[in-house]
Amino acid sequence: MGALTLVVALASVVTAVTAALTWQRRARTSAAVPLTASLVSVSVWSTAVVMLNTGQRPAVLDALVHVQYLGITGAVAANRLFAHTVTGGRLTARRVLLLCVEPLLVQLALLADPATRLFYASVEHVGDPPVRQTTLGPLFWAHALYSYAVVATGVAVLARRRRYATGLLRRQLGTVLLAMALPASVNVVTTTLPAEVLNVDTTPAVFAVTGLLFAFSVLRQDLLHLLPVARGLVVDTLGDAVLVVDGQGRVVDLNPAATALLQHLGQPPAAVGEALEAVAGRALADAVGAGEGEDVVQLGAVGLDVRVRRIHDPRGRVLGRVAVLRDVTAQRAQQRALEEANAQLRRHVETIERLRADLAEEAARDPLTGLRNRRRFVDDLTERLRAAAGGGHPVALVLLDVDHFKAVNDTHGHAVGDAVLVAVAGLLREHARAEDVVRYGGEEFVVVLPGTDAAGAAERAEQLRTACALLRVDGGAARVTISAGIAACPEHGTTPDDLLLAADRALYAAKAGGRDRVALAT
Ligand code: GH3
Ligand code: MG
Ligand code: MG
Repeated sequence: MGALTLVVALASVVTAVTAALTWQRRARTSAAVPLTASLVSVSVWSTAVVMLNTGQRPAVLDALVHVQYLGITGAVAANRLFAHTVTGGRLTARRVLLLCVEPLLVQLALLADPATRLFYASVEHVGDPPVRQTTLGPLFWAHALYSYAVVATGVAVLARRRRYATGLLRRQLGTVLLAMALPASVNVVTTTLPAEVLNVDTTPAVFAVTGLLFAFSVLRQDLLHLLPVARGLVVDTLGDAVLVVDGQGRVVDLNPAATALLQHLGQPPAAVGEALEAVAGRALADAVGAGEGEDVVQLGAVGLDVRVRRIHDPRGRVLGRVAVLRDVTAQRAQQRALEEANAQLRRHVETIERLRADLAEEAARDPLTGLRNRRRFVDDLTERLRAAAGGGHPVALVLLDVDHFKAVNDTHGHAVGDAVLVAVAGLLREHARAEDVVRYGGEEFVVVLPGTDAAGAAERAEQLRTACALLRVDGGAARVTISAGIAACPEHGTTPDDLLLAADRALYAAKAGGRDRVALAT
């Protein structure tokens, strides 16, 4: 056994061990299965090559060739499936079966070869122990061309994926590409060199390096963990619908959420490669086609949040667009309900505020005469006295009381008494501003005279008194007189209490003096 055969034997062991490693990771990703199959095939291939060089009987050698090609064709097919899954593709029975056709044909060609000599043009067993010496036939070249083509498409798929990848994924794909390109190129050399120069198939030896590269990528770069998981788990389990559209407006990818959403929208089942409008409908296609940005599109009862981003290649050319769609019907309904509730609440608050103001106004007003009542009057007066003091103006108070009012009630009845009070109130309002006239108590009133001193107030009170004496109520049956006490700020006091007390004393004096008169505070 030559040194080269020993290396091939080593390759067989390395690939078998790596196969065991990748097989353990099959639960994580679908890429683990074809990678294991590829490594097992290489191991079988290497083992057959080693056996072919260990001096077997001719019949055994011929049988080993079958095993060798099982390994070769299996490795090519499995490799192509690996490239497919590693770039995010799914393993379908159709794809697997299609790749199994050529390995089967090769086995049939080898079976028929002793009669046809189409695979190997000639086969000789020379030496002792015997070694197969062959010349290659047309079917071998057909097989070789097919295998290179399949490996080449796999490399192309990986290379293209790597171009748009970044970070760890880019490094992983680089390792995988190297691991695939290395044995392929060595195989080209082995196959084209004449048998006198090299009679051992050294390709499996290179696979020792390949096996180590894969082992490195699987163990150190976590190849089988991160690669297809990124797409498989992230995009496929994403709750948001993701649609990828190419430059021609064709859908090139969509995740299960997108399929479900389109079905929910009543679209016919979509297929990758169809025009966006056919897949998503006119309105949605318009929204996605409008360019980058975010928008909410209303499709019947369904509200969709649509975010569109352009995808660029490393040179900045636009490759297509990614649209992320989210059903926001429920959120929008919730938001509308919230806004409605908010508006209702605002209306309620406004109503309450109006009622409160009405109530406050009501509380400050006397229902019988419509005059302001005593409530808030003292506070207001404090304010007005302060303002008057600041401006150096006088303020006078007239405190009026209906004379012998009890007798009016007693003689004419309470209703007539009320009518008298309303008439007096009306008269006072004619002689002063509405906010300056207050019903102070039962038949007592206060008139505030801003800017008026004691003398001016006495004059005004006298006018009021005469006017009052002329009032006729109940068809002229009831007539009344009033007495008034006057106090002025600042000479009789500067606070409401002092002024009201002074006015009250003056009123008492007017009453004591015989009623129907005006008295000034002292
Ligand atoms: P004087 O000249 O001393 O003021 O005698 P007067 O009878 O007016 O005084 P007095 O305080 O004894 O009586 C006031 C009366 O006013 C007693 C009360 O029944 C009556 N009165 C108070 N408020 C009202 C009211 O709203 N309507 C009617 N009809 N009478 C009222
Ligand atoms: Mg009274
Ligand atoms: Mg009275």
